[in-house]
Amino acid sequence: MQNVVRTLLFDEQVSLTVADTTEMIKEGARRHGLSETSTIVFGRALSVATYMSACLKENTGEISLSVKSDGCGEIVVSGNRALHLRGYIALTNAEGKGEAAVNACFGTDGSLTVIRDDGYNRPFVGACAFPKNGGIDETFEEYYRISEQLPTRIKTIALTNEHGECVFGGVAVLQPLPFADEETLEKVKTIDLSTLLLSAREQGVEKAVKDRFDVSSEVWETREANYQCNCSREYLEQVLTSVGEEQMRTIIREDGALKVHCHYCNTDYEFTDEDADKIFKKA
Ligand SMILES: [Zn+2]
Repeated sequence: MQNVVRTLLFDEQVSLTVADTTEMIKEGARRHGLSETSTIVFGRALSVATYMSACLKENTGEISLSVKSDGCGEIVVSGNRALHLRGYIALTNAEGKGEAAVNACFGTDGSLTVIRDDGYNRPFVGACAFPKNGGIDETFEEYYRISEQLPTRIKTIALTNEHGECVFGGVAVLQPLPFADEETLEKVKTIDLSTLLLSAREQGVEKAVKDRFDVSSEVWETREANYQCNCSREYLEQVLTSVGEEQMRTIIREDGALKVHCHYCNTDYEFTDEDADKIFKKA
């Protein structure tokens, strides 16, 4: 499904991105067995990371965001230009319901770090402390204000049903381009992004954007984003080759198997002596 739309508004002075991240949030919650509140907090961070990934220009580009806080401990989300997103939240079973529980889970004191790697071995690292009154969207807006000097408006949403499962999630972002005039900047402040997201829930991201805005720009991009980890047995076999046969055999002898856990997708891998034979091609 084409769940990400990007376009330019107001004489191409402002970029707008809207994404429906419902299926991605569901998949993340399923893989990590998240409680309702943990689902909402992780889902909203995952949604912003989807936006950040959609901004990558190079095919080799990757972004990784990391939140460290007094609430959930840690949230990590990574994404690439192909819009494959993956991540985890340390606190998987945050309790309570409603906005207060969500804010407590995200935390009131903490920091956000974003690493953007365009694939040239010179990653850009930006960071900010949580703003005074906290808040998920406010923290990401603060990041753009401080680190990238862009007055960006970010709205994320993650709605759940009576079973605590995500029924709709998304993100809407307005970012004025550097040459945007004052009048446009004022207009950007008045746009109701929550209503836009609820409309996207009803009729899909494309129709919601076309209904709300006079989209005359030639820039109109629709893409598909998914929750997908890039780990695999084959990849780990490659890594184990560099670990070396002796060390691999020692671990297998001591522990019965060499176990690798992928935090991003909560998958366990086990390698035995037979795998070592295969990896090091012993006759
Ligand atoms: Zn994985």
